[in-house]
Amino acid sequence: MVVVDWLVRAMDDYNRVSLEKKESYVATLHMPGTILDELVNWCFQSLPDEILVGLEVDISTPHRDEVDELFQGADHHYGLFAGQGSIIGEAHIVNRGDSYSVHHLPEEWTDGLFTESRGARGGRFTHWLHTHPNAPAIPSGADADAAQATEGVDLILGVDFSPAGPLPWYDDVEGERRPLAKDEQKGEPEAENADANRPRWRSRLFGRRDRRQVLGKAPTGHSIHGLELIAFHRSGVGINVIFVDGEGLPYGWPFKADTT
Ligand SMILES: [Zn+2]
Repeated sequence: MVVVDWLVRAMDDYNRVSLEKKESYVATLHMPGTILDELVNWCFQSLPDEILVGLEVDISTPHRDEVDELFQGADHHYGLFAGQGSIIGEAHIVNRGDSYSVHHLPEEWTDGLFTESRGARGGRFTHWLHTHPNAPAIPSGADADAAQATEGVDLILGVDFSPAGPLPWYDDVEGERRPLAKDEQKGEPEAENADANRPRWRSRLFGRRDRRQVLGKAPTGHSIHGLELIAFHRSGVGINVIFVDGEGLPYGWPFKADTT
């Protein structure tokens, strides 16, 4: 399966930031680019709903040692979560709905057994990802609650796209932002001022939406302006995501030391 060019470039950029920020994280998670490609497509096919995706690791494909060595920070924790050290192997879309209902699985997924003790999602998968269509990848209160029953980690994929439908991009929230692909505002002065550390999403509130860069097109015809992805452990710490190819090597590998 071939990943589209713009997504490869986005993952390359994201991995460089994951490397730069490695000391801010206590663990890493390796996701194949083909899985991300699938997630982005499912996200659009399900609009305007959010989707919940169960992710299973493949214990026969551990992280490559040389990649772990490069990306692990000084404060790395072993044994923090289930599936740690194994590359994600498969993804299954298990629910769709609004930001609250998406976490509550229909009975055919929870099989009705021990639902209480396994949380609203039934505890069937190691990791869970849900989408935030036109909202940043920052956990809500409902997200933090749902994560408490997760044995692996929780991931959020935020997608900035147009036409936006009834709910335009909303970015008035606080939290660590990790753009996966962004509108770079090339040649515009505001990219270099004091706000430069803020994620550079083009907000339609500023009335420039039709000048926004288009990173790529979804199969549904939507224009994609930006993507964000975060992973977090139920204890509240962030998990550093690294996108890997079919060989288990990060997109952009090998990273040159002088790359800024
Ligand atoms: Zn959410």
